[in-house]
Amino acid sequence: MLELTGLAGGYGQAAVVRPTDLTVRAGEITALIGRNGAGKTTLLRTVFGLADRHGGTVTLDGRALSPGRPELLARAGATLMPEDRGVFPALTVAENLRLARRRDTVPAVDPHTVFPLLTDRAGQQAGTLSGGQKQQLGIARAMLAGRTLIAVDELTQGLQPSVVADVLEALGTIAAAGTAVLLVDQHAGALLDHSRHVVVMEAGRVVLDAPNGPGLRDRLDDLLAVR
Ligand code: ATP
Repeated sequence: MLELTGLAGGYGQAAVVRPTDLTVRAGEITALIGRNGAGKTTLLRTVFGLADRHGGTVTLDGRALSPGRPELLARAGATLMPEDRGVFPALTVAENLRLARRRDTVPAVDPHTVFPLLTDRAGQQAGTLSGGQKQQLGIARAMLAGRTLIAVDELTQGLQPSVVADVLEALGTIAAAGTAVLLVDQHAGALLDHSRHVVVMEAGRVVLDAPNGPGLRDRLDDLLAVR
């Protein structure tokens, strides 16, 4: 379980994420939704030590993680798939997977069973994959390394709806095996069908944090409506 208490962050002096409390529970998917520029990516980057932490605490499975030590999260089995998918373009699909595999981690789900392209295109250079294929490879890499927490930025970006459904199905299986899954997106869309908890950010703050349930879609429509 990932717990953020009063977490604030940004870039140098620039404050982007205002003090935020957030819990991402093991065994379920939490969706973090918000418009372009709401601060979702900066929140993830602050958690993972890639942006500056201005205050607050980050705790993973009860262990407090010091700011500026991204390796502590990696060691604790937490992975972030960034917007650019974090794949090595000059390496093959198989090499990308080999590098992601950790000796101390048995993935909850073998990504090859979820994404046939990992087998079909094992020898292909990752840089020559389509956007959607790179996305699948990125998620597969996160699946191999993430035991306690998998966070995915802009999950649906560039993915066909049919692939989104497969990916969400796979992430649901991973969550059911006990991993905390945090999915970030601009649109609630398909994520709502798979998320137990929904969090909305606006202007660097959490403006909604609620269990998924009846009526939530309408509240989200109101919150995310273009004003
Ligand atoms: P998107 O959906 O476009 O990724 P987001 O909700 O993830 O949006 P962020 O990327 O976290 O939002 O951006 C939040 C704010 O932080 C924006 O105002 C942006 O201009 C600012 N910002 C982002 N990166 C930097 C940076 N490297 N230095 C300074 N400000 C930044």
